[in-house]
Amino acid sequence: MTAGRHGDDSTTADVVVIGGGINGAAAAFHLATRGAGRVVLLDVPSPRSATPKSGAMLTLHHPSLPQASLAHAGLRELARVPELTGLPTGFTRSGIVHLLPPRYANTMRDAVAAQQAAGIPVRELPLPELAALFPGADLDDVGAAVVEPDSGYADPVLTTRAYLEGARRAGADVRHTAVRRVLTGGGRVKGVETEAGDTVSAPAVVLAAGVWSARLLEPLGIDLGLGARRVQITRFRVEPGSLPDGAPVLLDQVRGSWIRPDTPTSLLAGLEMGVPVEGPADGPEGVDQWYVDMCRAKLAGRFAGLSSAAMRGGWAGLIAMSPHGRPVIDELAEATGLFCAVADSGSSFKTAPVVGKCLAEWIVDGAPRSANLTPFGRSRPAGPGPSDDGYGRFGSAAKLAREIHQLRRAPSRTQEGRST
Ligand SMILES: Cc1cc2nc3c(=O)[nH]c(=O)nc-3n(C[C@H](O)[C@H](O)[C@H](O)COP(=O)(O)OP(=O)(O)OC[C@H]3O[C@@H](n4cnc5c(N)ncnc54)[C@H](O)[C@@H]3O)c2cc1C
Repeated sequence: MTAGRHGDDSTTADVVVIGGGINGAAAAFHLATRGAGRVVLLDVPSPRSATPKSGAMLTLHHPSLPQASLAHAGLRELARVPELTGLPTGFTRSGIVHLLPPRYANTMRDAVAAQQAAGIPVRELPLPELAALFPGADLDDVGAAVVEPDSGYADPVLTTRAYLEGARRAGADVRHTAVRRVLTGGGRVKGVETEAGDTVSAPAVVLAAGVWSARLLEPLGIDLGLGARRVQITRFRVEPGSLPDGAPVLLDQVRGSWIRPDTPTSLLAGLEMGVPVEGPADGPEGVDQWYVDMCRAKLAGRFAGLSSAAMRGGWAGLIAMSPHGRPVIDELAEATGLFCAVADSGSSFKTAPVVGKCLAEWIVDGAPRSANLTPFGRSRPAGPGPSDDGYGRFGSAAKLAREIHQLRRAPSRTQEGRST
């Protein structure tokens, strides 16, 4: 593709990117800097979209090696963003610790061995070391732990801004424009039609419209089985010293919750599961009281000092789940040139930096090179292997649903934080 082929013509492009969240932004940046020609990104931000709401944790360890490898490639690519764009990502190398119940200890050890063989910086954290890291914590139900010393979290807004600004500087045309439909014909993508009725024709389109992607695929007869899920985060005020200084992110897969450092007197917390919603526009943007109560109860079970931590806000955003809990990153057979980075499954902030790069390699050079995307294709290879769902994360949905039901039936008690 030839840079600048279309001059100032706003009705044609070499590549149109739909969506300006982290996935679309990273794709547009890499397309523009890789010589994809005229790159047009069309986005109308939604207050419920995933990226600005993201916890932006860059977790590496996962029972599935393809997931862990993609996350590792994402972390390495994220580290290059300041050098590539001159702009910060807010990356904090806090380290991440996973707690697992005894029944997953062997699965975890196999996964850690495979990840170490693949060069992924994870190791088993012996329980005495874990106890020394969190003095005073109740860790009796923990069967095993993993530590990732090099990972941490970033700022999702800064990172997206870095990519969008970098894309603009490299010549991409970033527009505040909604897409009404993707245009196809003769088995190929032809471009897009905007809500204003204008057309931008292009031989390649990247669909990265978050939970709204399904709505654009439906008229093309493409059903990837995507479902929307509302995911919440709450912020708690903590007294200095409630957690040790420099505490890492803690992903507690025993109790199904997580905490992330925030400011010296606050932390972010959440549950492992999102709540399925009927449609993409549903659900309040704020955090539910039952959710705050459940997070507090789970935290207090580990750190007694947090039993009366005051809630200082929270929020909810929408993620798109695929039936198997993996992202779908592929060129869609129904329309050559139509690429998608969808089904973020609640963990694509960390992978977007390398997924965007791979999409650019695919479109410009003919194949993705920076990561193996085959396991994330629409028709992923069948066969035995570790589960996609992160130690039965989705398998615990029924248990979580029961807990939520109990909390909702007892609002007065839960408001005092005595439930669960
Ligand atoms: C509360 C929460 C916590 C999370 N924590 C983590 C975490 O710790 N680590 C991690 O890796 N991931 C996490 N995630 C997931 C991660 O944030 C998402 O996977 C990622 O942000 C998805 O980015 P996206 O670009 O695909 O979609 P989005 O951010 O949803 O962006 C899609 C964009 O497309 C726009 N759009 C939609 N339709 C159209 C249209 N027709 N025309 C134009 N524009 C359109 C939308 O308005 C939006 O701006 C979390 C998500 C949530 C909600």
